[in-house]
Amino acid sequence: MGLFGGRKTVFVDADILVIGGGMAGCGATYESRYWGRDLKIVCVEKANIERSGAVAQGLYAINCYMGMQWGENQPEDHVRYARNDLMGLVREDLGYDIARHVDGTVHKFEEWGLPMMRDPKTGRYQREGKWQIMIHGESYKPIVAEAARKAATEVYNRIMVTHLLMDKSKANRVAGAVGFNVRTGDFHVFRAKAVIVAAGGASHIFKPRAVGEGMGRTWYAPWSSGSCYALPIQVGAKMTQMENRIVLTRFKDGYGPVGAYFLHLKTYTQNGYGEEYEKRWYEDTKAMVGDYVDHHPVPTCLRNHALLKEVAAGRGPIRMVTMEAFQDPHKETVGWENFLGMTIGQAVVWASQNIDPKHINPELTTSEPYVMGSHATCSGAWASGPEDYAPAEYQWGYNRMMTVDGLFGAGDTIGGTAHKFSSGSFTEGRIAAKAAVKYVMDMGKTQPQVSEQEYRDLEKVIYQPLENYRVGRNEIVAGTVSPSYLLPIHGLQRLEKIMDEYVGGISTNYMTNGVLLNRGLELLGMLREDMAHMGAEDLHQLQRTWELHHRLWASESVTHHTLFREETRWPGYYYRGDHMKLDDENWHCFTLSRYDRNTGKWDLEKAPVYHIID
Ligand SMILES: Cc1cc2nc3c(=O)[nH]c(=O)nc-3n(C[C@H](O)[C@H](O)[C@H](O)COP(=O)(O)OP(=O)(O)OC[C@H]3O[C@@H](n4cnc5c(N)ncnc54)[C@H](O)[C@@H]3O)c2cc1C
Repeated sequence: MGLFGGRKTVFVDADILVIGGGMAGCGATYESRYWGRDLKIVCVEKANIERSGAVAQGLYAINCYMGMQWGENQPEDHVRYARNDLMGLVREDLGYDIARHVDGTVHKFEEWGLPMMRDPKTGRYQREGKWQIMIHGESYKPIVAEAARKAATEVYNRIMVTHLLMDKSKANRVAGAVGFNVRTGDFHVFRAKAVIVAAGGASHIFKPRAVGEGMGRTWYAPWSSGSCYALPIQVGAKMTQMENRIVLTRFKDGYGPVGAYFLHLKTYTQNGYGEEYEKRWYEDTKAMVGDYVDHHPVPTCLRNHALLKEVAAGRGPIRMVTMEAFQDPHKETVGWENFLGMTIGQAVVWASQNIDPKHINPELTTSEPYVMGSHATCSGAWASGPEDYAPAEYQWGYNRMMTVDGLFGAGDTIGGTAHKFSSGSFTEGRIAAKAAVKYVMDMGKTQPQVSEQEYRDLEKVIYQPLENYRVGRNEIVAGTVSPSYLLPIHGLQRLEKIMDEYVGGISTNYMTNGVLLNRGLELLGMLREDMAHMGAEDLHQLQRTWELHHRLWASESVTHHTLFREETRWPGYYYRGDHMKLDDENWHCFTLSRYDRNTGKWDLEKAPVYHIID
């Protein structure tokens, strides 16, 4: 059986299985214990929950906090804000549900030891903006992970989950998951009554700006490999708004965040000639999106749009005017600390490029697109809403349950709910967990059964790339190149190139159209055929292989959705060259897709957007 013939199969039984121990997964694990005192709660994570996920490096602000105790904002205000930013299309029931609970989550973080900044005059949390509060957040993730660790029956670190398992007797019911230990190679079979997917968003599906030696540098965490989409898609869960990829305006080369600069330091942007440029593009933008351009605050995508137009007109680069603010020593400190607690790489880039923001206004640029459900975008799974608030059409079972029975999600996984960020993702994990516990309690004796045939078949598929490499390496022609296999890095670069050139990445200035998208789908299909020939030299490369599989699933979904929505709803995120205007008459709706694993076909449909809040 070769190098890994001695690997073990480890069976784990759980009432609730949480996949991914990031912000949402930690929230789900913590809350599962609260409602399910006697349940077996298992969290499985491909890294180590201590420092995993998008918050691994720490954060400098919690971006979603209402401040209801001080009457600062109400949940309805947050729904209006997110709806405005997403050009009208959000699941208001889900957003409201998070907003009404998020403050309680933040108070817990403080109780658990997260140092919060306070306004010396009022004693309230220090606001960075209307929704953001400032923290000393380098250790944000370890603090949150500790709560999850104490709540879980077991946390399995270093297990990459590759597939979900379905119940052998009841179609459309989840029964667990399989994966492998990225250090020992052991095969893990998790049997569970309910599964909560909280496996983060997707970077590296579009070609990044940083290539070659800088390839690992992306804005969203490079290890966010789209598992949260791939796992549900493969078992037929409906997805929504997958076309709604996000493009970020960030400091050039280091992707350093700009929020604290705009909101707290009151810096602003100008073109390469020192001119204000956003107003210049007002009429142009209005012609595309109508009144949405008059909304306040201006939606994030439209601000990107003005930047892109200005650069395309030959008046780049766009710069952040820091020189004024940085004359104030307090603001200068805040500006640097903002990176040190969150994106230290930006400080290093500036140091290496002789940029002192006190004397030079640093450049901004737009990132490659990412797919996620928790930031200023809302791609993800189509989920049932809260009983007391969701319209009937959005309710088919338990809160945050997908269209597959027993399969729940939170954070980047769940679509339609932008602007939840770290605190909202943890909160959504809690909401999903409460519902999952109820699902398990209600289940009685009809628990799901996994099929031995299914997991043994999957085991073969999962480890096949090691075998492909072992055999194929005999034909190596140079370095690691062999005609018989494809290495994960080559597959990844091929995927990124297809997505970049056909689905609206940086090379085409985020432009695509129906012809390009159809060709992109053909090329993705060819890549899928070749995935059977992936070769993995070791367990690390095996993980890379399965991350590539997951990225490919997410990419196919994004491409189908982008093709389906025949309008340009979010200029600045992407453009449909054949439908360059926002079209509220036909497309003020959600897009839904479902992959049928029996036929290999994708079905797309529209779902209504209900405006519950005035
Ligand atoms: C650069 C950046 C800056 C941000 N700034 C802020 C900010 O200032 N304030 C704020 O509030 N929010 C901020 N956010 C947003 C916040 O980090 C996310 O909203 C939040 O982390 C999403 O939570 P999640 O649980 O869905 O994903 P994550 O926290 O990323 O967790 C996903 C987890 O799943 C694991 N996983 C993935 N695939 C698998 C698999 N196949 N098997 C097992 N485990 C798997 C990952 O290792 C990870 O631990 C920022 C995000 C980024 C990337």
